[in-house]
Amino acid sequence: MQAETTESRRLEPGKLVLASHNKGKLREIQDMLAPHGFEVLSAGDLDLPEPVEDGDTFEANAAIKALAAATATGLPALADDSGFCVNGLNGDPGIYSARWAGPGKDFGVAMQSVQDKLIETDATDRTAYFVAVLCMAWPDGHTQFYRGEIHGELAWPPRGLEGFGYDPMFVPEGFDRTFGEMDKQEKHTTKEGEALSHRARAFVKFQKECLPA
Ligand code: IMP
Repeated sequence: MQAETTESRRLEPGKLVLASHNKGKLREIQDMLAPHGFEVLSAGDLDLPEPVEDGDTFEANAAIKALAAATATGLPALADDSGFCVNGLNGDPGIYSARWAGPGKDFGVAMQSVQDKLIETDATDRTAYFVAVLCMAWPDGHTQFYRGEIHGELAWPPRGLEGFGYDPMFVPEGFDRTFGEMDKQEKHTTKEGEALSHRARAFVKFQKECLPA
């Protein structure tokens, strides 16, 4: 019997849609793509609507966003679905990380909710991790996925003004500063030159398999 093969595609140089409306994520992924010579267009530049993210995994939601953009534009599209998982809250807010900030997208509120829920439930486990799943989609419906995680501990009160989202309440393992206290170089790359953040770790996998050699 022949083993099932999963086709692995590489991007050709040219236009690439970044299927996100989140400014923090866009900035980070645009920086990572910058050396690779693509003409990067964001979902906002192209006036693409934000699809309903009703998947129950990071992979499913990344695919919804990437496929919607690839189909609407006829161009290859890259989406990131990511979130903050707190072990003392059984992985919440997880895929609902953006929603915990409410309609005002206030991450001060979201971080306070994490802290309040840990206290309400007497949770003592203050470990947490970020997840990023990148989905690369082509207009014919083909998809490829790349996942990165970074584990660490919660800080309280939040510290630092860099980054976005839950960065000020997360200290990665082996460090004593929050992502909110690190500039973008420090958040994404260790002194040894290895990927640190969840997004940089996912990007390295994407780069190896998908970007022009
Ligand atoms: P979504 O992927 O657009 O559904 O939203 C992901 C949410 O997770 C963001 O709005 C942030 O709140 C949070 N998040 C994802 N990545 C990061 C990060 O690198 N730093 C801080 N928060 C993040």
